[in-house]
Amino acid sequence: MKLHVLGCSAIERTNAKMTSFLLDDRLLLDAGTIGAALDDTTQAKIRNILLTHAHLDHIKDLPFFADFIIQSNTHQHITVFSIPEVIDSLKKHLFNDILWPDFTKIPSADDPVVRLRAIRPGELFSVDGYKVTAYHVIHTAPAVGYLIEDTQGTRLLYLGDSGPNDALWNSLNGTQLNGIIIEASMPDRLEGLALMAGHLTPGLLKKEIDKMSTRPGTFYVTHAKPFHRDKVREELIKLNISNMKILEDGQVYEI
Ligand SMILES: [Zn+2]
Ligand SMILES: [Zn+2]
Repeated sequence: MKLHVLGCSAIERTNAKMTSFLLDDRLLLDAGTIGAALDDTTQAKIRNILLTHAHLDHIKDLPFFADFIIQSNTHQHITVFSIPEVIDSLKKHLFNDILWPDFTKIPSADDPVVRLRAIRPGELFSVDGYKVTAYHVIHTAPAVGYLIEDTQGTRLLYLGDSGPNDALWNSLNGTQLNGIIIEASMPDRLEGLALMAGHLTPGLLKKEIDKMSTRPGTFYVTHAKPFHRDKVREELIKLNISNMKILEDGQVYEI
């Protein structure tokens, strides 16, 4: 399984792109950054997107990607999967002919570029050869993480934005993960704010790791707010976790 980090930030700056990951050049996890990270040929291969939640740093490029498809004449259709609350938010607040044209009806209601598909947490579904299950995560908006298994049996857990979550680790008890993408958004001194906002600090991340019954192959740590990035990195390194990678935009890993 190939993991390409398109963006791993919550705020866009010249050196930081918003959250998106591309698996095996075709399955997109969140849609904060697409066009600024991928050439046209790679964009044309994307057919499916798993969205963790509707916050802008995770969906910002979805409307522009829909327009790219129309403008570039690739004739591709994209299916966006998420929980009903997120799908409803996209319909109501984004593809509503006010903020952006309703690409769920363009070029026609029968054959739209964007198809929105509601999924239910805990229920296995299949996407482009991957077996996927969504799990509720703790955040300020309705949100899920995804357990994704490819045809080789490689398993990646992508949690998006998520605070401490005992129920998740109980549900996953005994599941062997090859990789986990987990966040550390703020430094330890902002732990109170992180808990309030449904995020982790390095210290809180360590507590989550201690709750896991089986250790994942690799921890991929994401989502540090750009202004706190150096401090978060310093605190993560101090945790001394050997199989941990602190993600940066543009990196590619084989899981
Ligand atoms: Zn975020
Ligand atoms: Zn969020």
